[in-house]
Amino acid sequence: MGAPRPPARQGPPEPRRASVQGIAVTVLAMLCTACPTSSPQRQAPSPLAVEVDAQRIARHLSEAIRQPTISLDNPEAFEALRAWLPRAYPRIYATLEVEEIGRDSLLMHWRGSDPERSPYAFLAHLDVVPVEAGSEALWEHPPFSGAVAAGYVWGRGAIDDKGPAIAMLEAIESLLEAGYVPPRSLYLALGGDEEVGGKQGAGAIAGALESRGVRLGFTLDEGMVIANGLVPDIDAPVAVIGVAEKGYMNLRVTAFQAGGHSSVPPAHTAAGRLAGALVRLEAQPLPASLEGPPLLSLQFLAPHMGILARASIAAYPLSRRLLLARYLGEPAMAAQVRTTTAITMLEAGIRPNVLPASASAVVNFRIRPGESADEVVAHVRDAVNDPEISIEVLRASEASPVSPVDGEGFRIVQRALAEVVPEALVIPGLVLGGTDSRHYVQLTDGAYRFAPMRLGGSDVTRIHGSNERISIANLVEMVRFYRRVIQLADASAPSSDGAEGKTEGP
Ligand SMILES: [Zn+2]
Repeated sequence: MGAPRPPARQGPPEPRRASVQGIAVTVLAMLCTACPTSSPQRQAPSPLAVEVDAQRIARHLSEAIRQPTISLDNPEAFEALRAWLPRAYPRIYATLEVEEIGRDSLLMHWRGSDPERSPYAFLAHLDVVPVEAGSEALWEHPPFSGAVAAGYVWGRGAIDDKGPAIAMLEAIESLLEAGYVPPRSLYLALGGDEEVGGKQGAGAIAGALESRGVRLGFTLDEGMVIANGLVPDIDAPVAVIGVAEKGYMNLRVTAFQAGGHSSVPPAHTAAGRLAGALVRLEAQPLPASLEGPPLLSLQFLAPHMGILARASIAAYPLSRRLLLARYLGEPAMAAQVRTTTAITMLEAGIRPNVLPASASAVVNFRIRPGESADEVVAHVRDAVNDPEISIEVLRASEASPVSPVDGEGFRIVQRALAEVVPEALVIPGLVLGGTDSRHYVQLTDGAYRFAPMRLGGSDVTRIHGSNERISIANLVEMVRFYRRVIQLADASAPSSDGAEGKTEGP
């Protein structure tokens, strides 16, 4: 499990530790010498002057959306998309090595002129989730129409994840048009089954790269975005770079009991016994911790917050309880700091008058970095506290390691954002769901999950929901961003180990 590395030069200032236990945070606020005052945000250099053809990008995304590439479901749509790609991106197909690997997936390799330099990778996925039957009427434009209207491209996949995939392709195609020759190798890995786990797509691609001995300086995938008005007390847009993602586990909890007639029941039937176990489990959530991504996020945000908030962050770990209480008060925040427990499925009984021989529940856990699946199982056994109840692991994948906030990839993304979206604050964060990046953990220490999409509160429900869309203006920014990342990566890390590079500012 990846313990977070301590923030270095580019990170936020180390919070000072007060020596006297129990000092009230309000007192610290008045004596605010410990507050971080310098911002870890990069200063923006001159704005970019990159020609980007907005109409072409919109048309290409629209054409990509029109293929309903629902994961593992519609091979003809994937085939049509693969047939369309060389027509849309002729220079990419003339220059890069393009391989079909795994199910419905593509690996493109833009070979760098300097074989000594470490390669890096952009990750995206071409598959989408289906549109729920009966919900088509909720869409302003049909979900697979790829409508271009009111400054947006509409349709399933516009945000997740064809928008970023197309922006990456446009960035490469436009650099090729400009005659750009990269010194450093770039892989573009386009998975075909991310929405159903990514095993046959990203898993196969990562396996192929590993078997070829490839080590990646960093990877850049979907995960987090530029949040507008989603971070409490912060008005500026906040670009959250996912430095880790939570793990995933399903447990089946089962109570057994001799069957029989319901007219002569025991004190507890299997169903009652299970219910008791589930009540105990919900009453004992897993321990919450700020260590790792949550604390890193706070430390990056602190210089932009009010004095009280700054003081309490600076006073960590003395302010631990206070900060945790704020997180635990709200489910979306609580999910950042603890492994979540969700009882999702129940099964027992066949007739109203027959005692059930067994009763079972499926419980879904999202495991925070720093905690293992085994620890969660042990916690569940303790909480259930009934040796006659069986606990079975149905599926488990560990939380990812935490990628460094002073790593090359983080600094490059930070710098590209400072140029392309200078008004945004850049902070590290934790991805609560899963991404294809989890398949690449053997290949890199620097897995960053971020696409520069500007999403506000009302946009969040569009992901996997209805009226998914992305603005053309945002698509243009995304292309600029990926172009800059490529140029900065090429200007960085002259060694082959993906270590410190020239993007480090003064
Ligand atoms: Zn996605």
